[in-house]
Amino acid sequence: MFPTGQTQLVCLLGSPVSHSISPAMHNTSFDALGLDYSYMAFDISEENIKAAVDALRTLNCKGFNLTMPLKNAIIPYIDELSEEARLAHSVNTCLFEGGKLKGYTTDGIGFLNAMTDSGIDYKDKVITVLGAGGAATSIIVAAALHGVSKINVFKRKNSTFDSVVDFADRITHASECDVFVYDMADATLLEFCLQESDILINATNVGMGDEDKSLVPKEFLYKDLIVTDVIYHPAYTRLLKDAKAAGCKVMNGKYMLLYQGAAAFKIWTGQDMPIDLIKEKCFTED
Ligand code: NAP
Repeated sequence: MFPTGQTQLVCLLGSPVSHSISPAMHNTSFDALGLDYSYMAFDISEENIKAAVDALRTLNCKGFNLTMPLKNAIIPYIDELSEEARLAHSVNTCLFEGGKLKGYTTDGIGFLNAMTDSGIDYKDKVITVLGAGGAATSIIVAAALHGVSKINVFKRKNSTFDSVVDFADRITHASECDVFVYDMADATLLEFCLQESDILINATNVGMGDEDKSLVPKEFLYKDLIVTDVIYHPAYTRLLKDAKAAGCKVMNGKYMLLYQGAAAFKIWTGQDMPIDLIKEKCFTED
């Protein structure tokens, strides 16, 4: 479908964006549903974010996604934050509506929906999360608000450790879920927490560039633990390979990407993304 005089613009802001699958995912969906929208990607640095938002408002843009390094940097320009975005202090989807800029985070719900798609039940379960960066905090907030009973977070004991402890306290108060933060260097505690966990989530970038690295000794993995990774390239990180060898059910981050996009699509258009079509056209099987 070619753009018309009434085409609504949605886009991605961040840097780099040239590798992004989001334009293919959204434009294929618009086309399939006959929606007069068009999705583009713009390479925008942190210094240019205000100018970019002003320009998009002037152009009557419908909304936009944010990727690295803008998920926190956008917050001062948002008029209304969703509860999940406020708690996670992260925004990956914006909507211009009624003269206001509304901010949402769909990464966490994207991860939960990917688990559901993979047949993983997270309700009332105990989860261990590795890392406390943008992806991790969005997942922790969504998991806490959507029925996970306990979350153990393992994080390096560096200058941001105390702020993650504060974050965990806020989430514990805002939900029915208890969130604890531990030092990643404490292997004994990690093994103990994995023993009591139903699901492990690697939400760090360890295993992406350094493909032979994993934060979890393979002896800690056991058959009944479900092991997941936010990374989708490579399709199987060292952690997921070790987990498969230990007989665990595994899931990578591929469908987190799909479902965060589907949630954004719903915010902009009010319609469901055609999931099966997008899996077939935009997500090649591994
Ligand atoms: P981020 O905000 O920079 O956070 C990275 C986290 O990893 C931090 O908690 C960091 O620890 C931790 N970390 C990095 N190296 C480590 C190491 N050697 N040992 C222990 N911890 C380490 O990044 P992000 O945006 O959350 O992204 C994390 C990963 O998620 C990336 O691989 C990204 O591609 C992926 N991701 C996937 C999706 C998807 O849709 N599948 C969406 C978003 C992100 P410190 O806090 O101690 O620095």
